[in-house]
Amino acid sequence: MHAEVDRYAVMGNPVQHSLSPLIHTWFAEQTHQALVYEAIEVPLDGFPEAVARFQGEGGRGLNVTVPFKEAAWELADERSARAEEAGAVNTLVLRDDGGRFGDNTDGVGLVRDLERLGWPLAGRRLLILGAGGAVRGVLGPLLATAPREVVIANRTLARAEALVDRFQGRGALSARRFEDLNGAAFDVVINGTSASLAGELPPVPEACVRGACVYDMMYGARPTPFLEWAVAGGARHSADGLGMLVEQAAEAFFVWRGVRPQTAQVLLDLRERLARGC
Ligand code: NDP
Repeated sequence: MHAEVDRYAVMGNPVQHSLSPLIHTWFAEQTHQALVYEAIEVPLDGFPEAVARFQGEGGRGLNVTVPFKEAAWELADERSARAEEAGAVNTLVLRDDGGRFGDNTDGVGLVRDLERLGWPLAGRRLLILGAGGAVRGVLGPLLATAPREVVIANRTLARAEALVDRFQGRGALSARRFEDLNGAAFDVVINGTSASLAGELPPVPEACVRGACVYDMMYGARPTPFLEWAVAGGARHSADGLGMLVEQAAEAFFVWRGVRPQTAQVLLDLRERLARGC
């Protein structure tokens, strides 16, 4: 069954504060695509049913956010190479025949945002903080930019080591505890922990951020606690993850519609809206 206007949505829990409906509505206006996009909060035990219902009602595609990205990977009957490597899906294409194509646009979103910022990655030393779903999703595209070295530091060392195993052979990748980073210097530091969500800081030695370009995947109206700390500690440049959010959305839009929206103005407008508190 087809809805009159193509329907898309983001599913997550919680999802009411998601900026995705706004971003995709702006993309649709800009590219003259007729579609509607909504946020659907899904019960923790109800994701497969919610996807089936949305698809049954004619829904054409979904973004998937915390905590359903692995479940979305399971539900896809065909996946892109980048979704396969991430073990997680943030974009589903829902086909008329009931099929589901799963993709992951988080990594390419981050890399495009770093390109926009003009932060070089090839031949550079990268420090990635955290070893959860977000980091697993971005590692492949980051390694594809040919950095000299990538160190993953995580509170639970075993999770960082598991990522090193998963991406074995893709570059100079190693796992460390935060306390073992003493004395190490990096060109680019990416915070992929969820520490900022709780207003906490990952225990990184200050020397790691001195002179570095420092990125926090988290974003907000104000600089995150991690970015404030890094700038005070001598970071050369800093940026939050709003650009990554917009770029991953643009890539999802392209996967669904075959049209690539412009992102620069959308990012500026979104930043202004966040600053105004709406
Ligand atoms: P997960 O729950 O999968 O992983 C959380 C990670 O953070 C783990 O490595 C965990 O360590 C670490 N961690 C949590 N609290 C602390 C702390 N107090 N100190 C040190 N380490 C801590 O989360 P995700 O990977 O899904 O998300 C991580 C972040 O990325 C979130 O802030 C999320 O908002 C952001 N994100 C942003 C996106 C964007 O588009 N901008 C897209 C996707 C995610 P341990 O393993 O020891 O528990």
